[in-house]
Amino acid sequence: MCTQEFFQAQRSQLVGRLALRSLENFESILDYLLSWEVLTWEDYESVSLPGQPLSTLARRLLDIIWNKGGRSCELLFAAVEKAEEAEEQTEPLRLWSQNVASPAQDLQRHRPVIVRKIYGHVEGILDLLLERGFITKYECDEIRLPIFTSSQRARRLLDFAKVKENGVAQFLLQHVYQLPVLPAPFPHAAACQKYRAKLRATLSAQSRFLSTYDGSESLSLEDVFTENTLEIRKGGGGGPSPRGCDTVELPDIFSDRGCVNEHADTVLLVGEAGSGKSTLLQQLHRLWAAGRLFPRFLFVFPFSCRQLQSVDKPVSVRTLLFEQCCWPDEGQQEVFQYLLDHPERVLITFDGFDEFKFKFTDRETHCSPTDPTSVQSLLFNLLRGNLLKNARKVLSSRPHAVSAFLRRYVRKELGLRGFSQEAIELFMRRHHREPGLAERILRLLKATPALLGLCHVPVFSWIVSKCHRELLQRGGDSLKTSTDMYLLILRHFAMHASPGAAAWGPGLPSLRPWLPAVLRLGRLALWGLGTSSYVFSAQQLGASGVEEEDLSLGFLVPARSFSPESAAPLEFLHITLQCFFAAFYLLLGADVSASALRRLFHPHKRPGRSSARRFPVPCLRAPEPEEPEEASVAGLLRRAEPHNVQITAAFLAGLLSREHRGLLAECRGAAGPLLQKHNLVRRGLSLSLRRHFQAIPPAVPGEVKSMHAMPEFVWLIRSLYEMQDERLARKAVSKLGVGHLKVTYCHIGPAECAALAFVLKNLRQPVALQLDYNAVGDVGVEQLLPCLPVCQALYLRDNNISDLGICRLVDQALRCEQFQKLALFNNQLTDECAHSLANLLKYKQNFLALRLGNNHITAVGAKVLAEGLKGNDSLQFLGLWGNKVGDEGARALASALQDHRSLKWLSLVGNNIGSLGAQALALMLEKNVSLEELCLEENHLQDEDMCALAFQQQHYSSRCFCPPSGSGR
Ligand code: ADP
Repeated sequence: MCTQEFFQAQRSQLVGRLALRSLENFESILDYLLSWEVLTWEDYESVSLPGQPLSTLARRLLDIIWNKGGRSCELLFAAVEKAEEAEEQTEPLRLWSQNVASPAQDLQRHRPVIVRKIYGHVEGILDLLLERGFITKYECDEIRLPIFTSSQRARRLLDFAKVKENGVAQFLLQHVYQLPVLPAPFPHAAACQKYRAKLRATLSAQSRFLSTYDGSESLSLEDVFTENTLEIRKGGGGGPSPRGCDTVELPDIFSDRGCVNEHADTVLLVGEAGSGKSTLLQQLHRLWAAGRLFPRFLFVFPFSCRQLQSVDKPVSVRTLLFEQCCWPDEGQQEVFQYLLDHPERVLITFDGFDEFKFKFTDRETHCSPTDPTSVQSLLFNLLRGNLLKNARKVLSSRPHAVSAFLRRYVRKELGLRGFSQEAIELFMRRHHREPGLAERILRLLKATPALLGLCHVPVFSWIVSKCHRELLQRGGDSLKTSTDMYLLILRHFAMHASPGAAAWGPGLPSLRPWLPAVLRLGRLALWGLGTSSYVFSAQQLGASGVEEEDLSLGFLVPARSFSPESAAPLEFLHITLQCFFAAFYLLLGADVSASALRRLFHPHKRPGRSSARRFPVPCLRAPEPEEPEEASVAGLLRRAEPHNVQITAAFLAGLLSREHRGLLAECRGAAGPLLQKHNLVRRGLSLSLRRHFQAIPPAVPGEVKSMHAMPEFVWLIRSLYEMQDERLARKAVSKLGVGHLKVTYCHIGPAECAALAFVLKNLRQPVALQLDYNAVGDVGVEQLLPCLPVCQALYLRDNNISDLGICRLVDQALRCEQFQKLALFNNQLTDECAHSLANLLKYKQNFLALRLGNNHITAVGAKVLAEGLKGNDSLQFLGLWGNKVGDEGARALASALQDHRSLKWLSLVGNNIGSLGAQALALMLEKNVSLEELCLEENHLQDEDMCALAFQQQHYSSRCFCPPSGSGR
């Protein structure tokens, strides 16, 4: 193969080598190419345009080189090698010869070594040139713009000298000759190494123990960390792509897989509260600090947004990294310059963007790493790449806080789906190593599906694990809702904080003695939500009346702080616990009137994160006792982040459930207007749900009325479930006239399925329930069963459902008269569930549509399905796209369909079918009179098979046979 052909064959790898390393690497390749005169000045200018994506420049460079022929291609390979070896290189001085006749040419010929000689001296050289009148102040400023790295400034200086004909090149050459060659711009300077070691040690100490833990035991993260399902989200965060989501492991989160914007630096990690975002970041920090992950990053800087927003003075990149994170004990300037020059070796993580009270905007551009600006401007410009371009950033957030606007700057988006069934088991085993204990807990979970459903969310697994003794004693049946779980953990902590705990019998302790503490914490929690404060200083605790003994409950823990010198502020163990305490306070706080809760269940727009901007942090006061509380509570609720209000409202509904009324009565010492609040919440819930439905446009004539659920819908349903009030649920949906309910891409897991079933089972007319692209899983399917009788169709595309879940579903479906359609595209089905599905076809003679595309059904399963089809007289649509039924399966299906009278549409696209199968299908078409559309794309059909099938198509002109372009799925 000649060099040019080889070059072309290597093109995609070369693009990777040129574009995926660093800008510094690319530019030093250009240095070599210029110095060897492979590139003309014009070529050079066309591939060094600032602001252009590196990949575009790399491709342009490859085009130029290819056009120049084989020798240039060879030299490009050589330049790539040289640049990549740059770390070790020092060019021998003997190669440094001067050609006094043409200094500009000389500058170019020795460009790589000159850059290396001067990059650490540009400032001094500029001063010298200014002094000698070779350069103007304006030109100097242009060269030393802070957005450029030291080596870029060196190159700009050389570019400047090349075009100026005032002797500057000659002067520069002489001056540079005397300078020593500096180590490559990857200095292993002692200061950098020491700083790295300090950063590692700090991160290692901080990430060793699970962060949100009460401190009564120390759980090492290494021992208990459990893999959480992490998926790559595509298509603007709406959810995974229609072909399903890709899962990814932590070590691969920076790979190019799933990259949606190669010019962006930020990896976005989204997940609901308690899904494990902070823990995953903590694991990342821990593994990096231990040298086990991401060696490409020399420096990792962790930040939490809740702490960042309490920075109330202007900050620069330098102060952010050094003062807010880790201070270099020596060589600050050297270290900082290194970070600026090699951003690709830097990783910055920002946890909890949803708790940052400033809305993302790109209105303010700030490019100077040394000039201070507001903390929000700094964060946004880092995310946008205006600062530390090419440094990787990871931003974690709950989904609601991620705007389309922010997504424009996201390189790739990852979603946390929570624990799989296996992960729950592993989690319990890792937390409980005493013989047999984990098994007992797992048996309990399996026997109580509602509890198991909750455990897919890691924070609930943690609660179960923590309260296992109570659970094993009294069983899990009484625990259905999130509120049940949070009350359990409250009692658990209360019991452990009580001096006489050991003397308490097997029953759960009364909360009565702890009520004042709970209310004080609740007051603080509510105030925090209303002012977007999640970290509390001693002064703020005092202002809310929180006492020393309240801390002994263990719900407030020291915030992870990087400044051990200062007294660490406190934060709630988890944001959901802050909401839970706020709910308690809203309900039992003696000074919270019912009217303050009036708007709780009305979806509201917050005055805007921007409103916080009007109140700089120090101005936000904890509530004063003399403030009019009613106005203050309503005001706080209005100002709080709507999603936190929703979590709080759902807890409040839960506390008002019949199950917990006893508890409230027991706590009534506080004597709030409980009944009034109860009625108000009930009314608010059912009214809001009805309003939601009324807002749906009327049905198009001839179609069923269809509704696409908005996020509020899921929240209202969850709140109804928390309240466990069957009558209320019935009332709320009794007048609902919707034929098709679409709840796709809504992060529906097993817990939401339980809530949906609890409410929707009361519908008066049949509904098609579309739950595609969620995380229902087998446990969620189990939870949905109670509402199957009202389902006319169930769409569960892409929901990680296996044979187990489907077999349970079919068992139930056989008893549901109205159930007629089932869509299971892209799940984990195998031949194991074929018997069940065949029974559905055989015994349910009004069943219309079965879509099984993109599963793992082979000829074995197809034969079983074919048996079911033989006894079926109603099915109209059968989708098997993307399985592996092969010739044998196709033949079995063809044989079953010869006399079938209702099937109109059959998709066997992409099923590895060859001539044998096709001929059988052609024969079937000769006899079958109902089939209107047969989709066979992406198989291995020969010309004669096509002819046979086409013949049948002509014969029955109403038929459509679609290789190769039908939809078929
Ligand atoms: P988020 O940041 O999404 O709100 P967290 O990371 O704080 O969620 O998780 C809540 C709790 O769940 C943690 O304190 C921890 O006890 C548990 N947890 C979360 N993820 C994991 C995991 N991967 N392994 C073990 N425990 C976990």
